Amino acid sequence: MEIFGAIEAGGTKFVCAVAGEGGGSLRTATIPTGDPDTTFAQVARFFAEAGDIGELAAIGVASFGPVGVDPHKSDYGRILATPKPHWEGTDMIARVKAFADVPVGIDTDVNAAALAEVAAGDGAVRQLAYVTVGTGIGVGLVSDGQPVHGIGHPEAGHILVRRHLAHDGFAGLCPFHGDCLEGLAAGPAVAAAWGLSPSHIPEEHPFWTVEADYLAQLCMTLFLSFAPERIVLGGGVMKQQRLIPLIRSRTVELLGGYLRALDSEEAMAQRIVAPACKEPSGLEGAYLLARQAAARR
Ligand SMILES: [Zn+2]
Repeated sequence: MEIFGAIEAGGTKFVCAVAGEGGGSLRTATIPTGDPDTTFAQVARFFAEAGDIGELAAIGVASFGPVGVDPHKSDYGRILATPKPHWEGTDMIARVKAFADVPVGIDTDVNAAALAEVAAGDGAVRQLAYVTVGTGIGVGLVSDGQPVHGIGHPEAGHILVRRHLAHDGFAGLCPFHGDCLEGLAAGPAVAAAWGLSPSHIPEEHPFWTVEADYLAQLCMTLFLSFAPERIVLGGGVMKQQRLIPLIRSRTVELLGGYLRALDSEEAMAQRIVAPACKEPSGLEGAYLLARQAAARR
């Protein structure tokens, strides 16, 4: 049997998985992200052991960024400037090719997730943004069915936002920009600003309003600049299901009636949604990258 490999390469963990022609992971493993040598040694072991399931046709890598995504450039497949120790300059494609002589596809975890969310839909959505809010904030964009690349890939997690009054004394945590969106609203920023983990915040805490406001500012910017038919919100912080309705209503408020198609909570409920993929969107996206790489062969 022919199998496809998926690697969702994250800053805290690598999820490796294999699926057959019909999709759906047959086996998965979660590997804590250490240095590249240690991490890829375990990734290689997983795929070697998966040889008992079938013959590997291709591997897709949905990688944390920034990562080179242009096959015509010398940094293709390489991790670019990152605060993550040991990873800058790592050639993700060469690391995979070192243990598996198969076609390898790569994109950012969020672009891959956006591709998977388009594929999970009914075919009506061609323009989609996938946002992850976790240890960082990432935004993947798919336009007319293709992931958006240009000068690298989108990095809308680092846009500047208007600071919430209840957040006044907090400087923000982004090592590059201080109080950009990620610096104010990603998981570590939430913990630093409020001294609380997002999963343990009482209902009446100002966090909910502040967090929804920042993420609504992102949604507004995405609607205005990119006109997505759907914005999918995923990631660890978004597991707090109270957030999505708050973000929807704040986005309607911020847009102030300017975009007619989005001028009600009912309309927004169709546009700002939780992930639809059965498996984590990034992992399903990695399978799509693998299938594309196999088809290009
Ligand atoms: Zn930033």
